Amino acid sequence: MLRFRMVEAALNHKAVDVKAPSTRPSDYFGEKVFGRNVMRKYLDKPTYEALVNTMDNGTPLSLELADSVAAGMRQWALDNGADHYTHWFQPLTGGTAEKHDSFSDPDGKGLVIESFSGKVLAQQEPDASSFPNGGIRNTFEARGYSAWDPTSPAFIVDTTLCIPTVFIAYTGEALDYKVPLLRSIAAVDKAATEVCHYFDKNVNSVHTYLGWEQEFFLLDESLWAARPDLVLTGRTLMGHESAKNQQLEDHYFGAIPQRVMNFMRELEYESLKLGIPLKTRHNEVAPNQFEVAPVYEEANLANDHNQLLMTIMDKIARRHNFRVLLHEKPFKGINGSGKHNNWSLGTDTGVNLFSPGKTPSENLQFITFLVNVMAAVYRHNGLLKASIMSATNAHRLGANEAPPAIISTFLGSQLSSVLEKLESSKSDDAIRFDAKSVLKMSGVAQIPSILLDNTDRNRTSPFAFTGNRFEFRAVGSSDNCAEAIITINAAVAEQLVQFKSDVDAVIAKGVKKERAIYETLKKLIKYCRAIHFDGNGYSDEWKAEALRRGLDCETSAPLMFDRFLDKKSEKMFALAGVYNKTELEARTEVKWETYTKKIQIEARVLGDITRSNILPVASKYEAVLLDKAFKMKELGLNYDSDIALLRDIQSRVATLQRLVDDMIEARKVANRIEDQREKAIKYHDTVAIYFEEIRSHIDRMEEVIDDELWPLPKYRELMFIR
Ligand code: ADP
Ligand code: MG
Repeated sequence: MLRFRMVEAALNHKAVDVKAPSTRPSDYFGEKVFGRNVMRKYLDKPTYEALVNTMDNGTPLSLELADSVAAGMRQWALDNGADHYTHWFQPLTGGTAEKHDSFSDPDGKGLVIESFSGKVLAQQEPDASSFPNGGIRNTFEARGYSAWDPTSPAFIVDTTLCIPTVFIAYTGEALDYKVPLLRSIAAVDKAATEVCHYFDKNVNSVHTYLGWEQEFFLLDESLWAARPDLVLTGRTLMGHESAKNQQLEDHYFGAIPQRVMNFMRELEYESLKLGIPLKTRHNEVAPNQFEVAPVYEEANLANDHNQLLMTIMDKIARRHNFRVLLHEKPFKGINGSGKHNNWSLGTDTGVNLFSPGKTPSENLQFITFLVNVMAAVYRHNGLLKASIMSATNAHRLGANEAPPAIISTFLGSQLSSVLEKLESSKSDDAIRFDAKSVLKMSGVAQIPSILLDNTDRNRTSPFAFTGNRFEFRAVGSSDNCAEAIITINAAVAEQLVQFKSDVDAVIAKGVKKERAIYETLKKLIKYCRAIHFDGNGYSDEWKAEALRRGLDCETSAPLMFDRFLDKKSEKMFALAGVYNKTELEARTEVKWETYTKKIQIEARVLGDITRSNILPVASKYEAVLLDKAFKMKELGLNYDSDIALLRDIQSRVATLQRLVDDMIEARKVANRIEDQREKAIKYHDTVAIYFEEIRSHIDRMEEVIDDELWPLPKYRELMFIR
């Protein structure tokens, strides 16, 4: 039987040797990237300087200079073994897209020459009609353009030069994640810089930083291949829990098995060559679950690096006879995977705006940014949740797993008390804090050094402040980080603009600047009090409390997507220049459509496996039991237990047949709906509801049917890589 052949194959998979690099990371880091070192070698001085100016300050590059850049880039690529190039972009399908073209062109005289012009570097028109666009492009003008993003350097994968690009419609609307990300970075830069000027006139710009932590599962390729549900949907739609899984908590930070270790080493080597600064690797909580994390970078680059990592991970895993599962919930009963997004803002003068400083002014600045972020997260908490919602992440958000489908902010006891005192103090109060790390505030201008206790961590908070950054933990492992960062940036930009105008209004009345900031902050702390929660986010009490506080507690994915079309979201995105109404409508349409398709595929696969794999096996076992009971009867022996088992299986078979029929019927009804929102809701409310019930009968049968007959690799076989 296939199952046993595959289990045997998996047992025979040995650790695949990886050649240890003969040099140190500092020697090969970034060697496949067209970074500044290489640019200096391959570009003439004026071209180099112009390009750096574009990268650092966004100054547009002329077409002549683009030609020179292209020439240098081509030469570097050819010198490094590349023979093709591609515009590399991030369509709304998720993942990345690329169409490779050869550098070689016929020269018209029967020979070929290597060519690559500035025009080709700067812009292309991929046949875009099959990328999702939410109705933005009519098919008669199904045109999308990819355009070079010079702020993220080109790189070589295998023998292809990859040029990071944005992807936009003929009419200018964003069709990808990069365009709105760049817009949101610009919006928060502008708004934050203005607020920084209250404290330091020398600040010219504010950067968004992102440090992601990527969780994933590894599975043996043979076992994966014997599970059609994993192959087609990325998760197991059935499977009885293994007797041992994560109860012993012996996997977290445990020793990494050799096979996995070799995979990790190769992944790290390849990542470092591509300039992805991977730093951390460890086992996660669940068996077969791992995490890698780089050092944080500027958000646009960090996000490109995460997209790139997800791609190369998959390739490298195959070389080691593994498959990477990026699905948020591949297995029932054990933890799912997320992607923590560590997000912060920093000035060009080198100040992290979420780091408490040493001087009173720095601390007032710190509190200012902290409180403004909280206010933004409060105002748009429903939208923020919607930004990370998907059919796959729905298994974590709102299901019985971390984090809850409610956005809240954790601050820790020390900061909480700072804000409390600030809120309740009268303007002229001298404020004293008793804590050991002594926070004495006499009036406003003297908030002294705040020593934050970094160990004060709350793992149940979806949006936690962790000492010098916010950590958005609810992001899904397969998500494009941009979606979350876009929303945070845009919301914070809106809030900072409002803050600036409020403070200026107070100053205009003749109040001193510090006092004006202080007064405005007090109001803001009051306003956003509801978002602050330091307790256990998994508890039922919190769900009830959050509802009382008016936080968004919706758990249905299709309904959450409505938040994108709220008037206040529309206003906020417009103000930040991130999305116009057409874009918002189109993207929400894509979200509903994608949701429907995912559930539709799962429903089909579940129906197929039930009918063609599970029910026939149940019949076979029924026949065995019947035969035995028959013979027992002949011999005058007691056969009650056989009949009881037979009845149990029979009744489950009948139930399964009925449930699958009903599910198919529900799908047919849903499929007739034209409107994407209505259709997604129908799929959520009337199709997906069958999944749990169907699997519960299958999982029970897996327990009682002869192991020799069971067709699919079991959890206990899938889960433990030796
Ligand atoms: P955890 O305890 O959550 O596992 P780690 O120490 O592994 O935390 O770091 C998580 C991530 O946070 C890393 O990618 C790190 O680079 C990133 N990080 C650290 N400081 C900042 C910052 N100021 N802004 C953004 N990301 C940061
Ligand atoms: Mg973390």
